[in-house]
Amino acid sequence: MASSDSGPAAGDPQQAAEPIGPPSGVVVPRFAGPETFARLPRLDQVDRAGVAILGVPFDAGVSYRPGARFGPSGIRAGSKLLRPYHPELDVDPWGIAQVADAGDIAPNPFDLLAAVGQVEVAARQVLQNADRLITIGGDHTIALPLLRVMAERHGPIALVHFDAHLDTWHTYFGAPYTHGTPFRRASEEGVLDLDVSSHVGIRGPIYDRKDLVEDRALGFAIVSTMEVARRGVDEAIDRVRSRVGDRPVYISIDIDVLDPAHAPGTGTPEPGGLTFRETQQILRGLTDLNLVGADVVEVAPAYDHAELTTIAAANLVYELLGLMALESRKSGESA
Ligand code: MN
Ligand code: MN
Repeated sequence: MASSDSGPAAGDPQQAAEPIGPPSGVVVPRFAGPETFARLPRLDQVDRAGVAILGVPFDAGVSYRPGARFGPSGIRAGSKLLRPYHPELDVDPWGIAQVADAGDIAPNPFDLLAAVGQVEVAARQVLQNADRLITIGGDHTIALPLLRVMAERHGPIALVHFDAHLDTWHTYFGAPYTHGTPFRRASEEGVLDLDVSSHVGIRGPIYDRKDLVEDRALGFAIVSTMEVARRGVDEAIDRVRSRVGDRPVYISIDIDVLDPAHAPGTGTPEPGGLTFRETQQILRGLTDLNLVGADVVEVAPAYDHAELTTIAAANLVYELLGLMALESRKSGESA
């Protein structure tokens, strides 16, 4: 396997000068090489990572179409074409601090609460060997245990939540833990800094007007898809940024924030969504924040066409890695 040529040398000193990247795309073609995210090394192949990417193949919390359990493998497959330099942010997303793939956890597919606990344990464990975490899902239920772990380390978290849906329902069919409720539970548990958190991309019909009233009462701000369409991405960026300030920020991206034309492979599609480019622009406006973690969830490859959704999701992870690399460069971190 040619890719092992660029793997880490055994016994590398902790302060390796350069992060280990993927095999060169001109040596090992992009459709070959490791099956990790962007063909990067596995976490167990490096001493420590600046950013770890963790897969959570889990979809027992969905309310409509299942299939997000295949999201992590789909996003990894969609990531093979990513290249090492991000011209718009002027940064090498995996060239500043080490980025490594922590693999998938093995969540219980029949016991949702057990799975939630497993995500929490796994995230905590991965963060013993990594400074920041990007999780690829999996349905949105997994954001709750991830936010618990973030809050444990950083205190209440400023959430920037990209989604067509609020995900602050109280219960669904009497169930408190579903992919439509993670941010209500997180609010109740005190892991969110509610005065500084926002939803971005909200749209579509909802059950009741009071869903919006309750969400507002929790403290969230909403930057709706229509607002982005009417007032533009810069104002959306300003609204999100002016709230979070210097708080620890977590970005949670439900792929259904994108229009189904851009991301058909998801469980709860809503027409009239953000374009990929708008989402990319908003993310690129979120530089210089204290970004501690992120996720990209709800990718269900069975409904995808031509890898539109998996490639979009992988590119959103790339944007997140770019933002984290800028932070690492600023603070002189290396891993
Ligand atoms: Mn959604
Ligand atoms: Mn969601």
